[in-house]
Amino acid sequence: MLQTAQVHNATQTDLAYQKCINPACGATYDARSVRTACDRCGDLLDIAYDWDRAAVPSKLSDFESTWSQRTDPVRFSGVWRFHELLPFAPQKDLVTVGEGQTLLQQADRVGQFVGMNDGQLFLQYEGMNPSGSFKDNGMCAAVTHANLMGAKRAACASTGNTSASLALYCSATNLMKAVIFIGSGKISYGKLSQALDYGALTIQIAGDFDDAMIRVRQVSQELGIYLVNSVNPFRLEGQKTIMFRVLEALRWQVPDWIVVPGGNLGNSSAFGKAFIELHQHGLIDRIPRLAVINAAGADTLYELFERRGVRWNGGQVGMDPIVQYNDEMDRHSKKADTIASAIEINRPVNLKKCLRALDAMNGVVRQVSDQEILDAKARVGAGGFGCEPASAASVAGAKLLRREGVIAPSDRVVCILTGHELKDPTATVAYHTTDQDVFNKTLGSRGVKKASFANRAVAVPNELDDIIKTIQLYA
Ligand SMILES: *Cc1c(COP(=O)(O)O)cnc(C)c1O
Ligand SMILES: [Zn+2]
Repeated sequence: MLQTAQVHNATQTDLAYQKCINPACGATYDARSVRTACDRCGDLLDIAYDWDRAAVPSKLSDFESTWSQRTDPVRFSGVWRFHELLPFAPQKDLVTVGEGQTLLQQADRVGQFVGMNDGQLFLQYEGMNPSGSFKDNGMCAAVTHANLMGAKRAACASTGNTSASLALYCSATNLMKAVIFIGSGKISYGKLSQALDYGALTIQIAGDFDDAMIRVRQVSQELGIYLVNSVNPFRLEGQKTIMFRVLEALRWQVPDWIVVPGGNLGNSSAFGKAFIELHQHGLIDRIPRLAVINAAGADTLYELFERRGVRWNGGQVGMDPIVQYNDEMDRHSKKADTIASAIEINRPVNLKKCLRALDAMNGVVRQVSDQEILDAKARVGAGGFGCEPASAASVAGAKLLRREGVIAPSDRVVCILTGHELKDPTATVAYHTTDQDVFNKTLGSRGVKKASFANRAVAVPNELDDIIKTIQLYA
């Protein structure tokens, strides 16, 4: 449906165009243009498609037939295997480094911790991506578009994982140069080490993520650098495929709940768009519920959605409470603060798209403390493959929603584990340490009182007898 043909100027072959998310505006733009906001009203943009001309399969299980084509890198990709559901670039131009080979684990022991019946809790390990976080799902899509646009430099502001992902795509494909902006002292060593090792130009500014975000937008505008933050609508197209893979792993059955940590709200926005489209295509008959989990130290979405009643409202989002809340944060110099650094964000850029997802998926928002996040993280580690702190917010949130009775023990729940265990070893070691100073410095300062699920190293004299006795005592 091309409503404003005067700005939208697609070529015959382009199925995709960019469209303002504000229904009262509805401006459309060519897919072959670089923009992160609507020229007319300033709102966020979506990628929209002329689906009538697209080759959407008649049932989801049709995607299984492409498994046999895995020797083709594009079909090996867990993102581009679903190209028919994000057809914004020709097959020959798709960029991949082998992203999206991720696992959905039935995690009964974690399920017991959450309060679920056996067989009902699933963990989606997006940390298994090449750069160790879900960001690769979006980055392959953004870099594909950047390359189509002839970009020679791409930039992002990052709490760590977006920069690690961009740096990896730039080094592995050699298509463009990565320029990354990070706040000072707010990035874990695991993530910083990746950006440095992959050779990205790394600009550390004196400020936090929200400051870095403002600067990178200015600089990209000024220098014509391609911006890959999640205001980039192409990136979010790639992130839709996380949901396609969840469905695939559940043999195309729709779960009851998707639980995801919320930072800049790109993921939750992409999930909402994925399910809206699947439902429109008639590929699913119902839509799961969405739970977005904030850290208590970075709880803007929770505050606005659950406390101040801000809603999507058919696209007419009431801006007054949002402006007022931003003013309050400014007046009190409120800075986001949580051990879950990947979601330590106070001004989520995708707020409106997330409100749309919450609307379409009958969603809820909760906040969890750093204590709850770290306890959940320890249970995930002990019952599965581990994750970084932000990811465990999903499991802590599911546990809270179980306790409230919002999630039933018989529901089928999928928690998205967004990043790899090794992204932030400092937090993990501080939780399990026997050194009270280490604990206090990293966690105690954030209100974490005790590590109930710690697995502490046992100190033993360097004597064979003592070592043998210790093993017999503990294992
Ligand atoms: C980026 C990130 C998040 C937050 O995702 P949004 O899409 O910004 O809400 C959560 N966890 C990890 C590990 C991340 O890297
Ligand atoms: Zn607009």
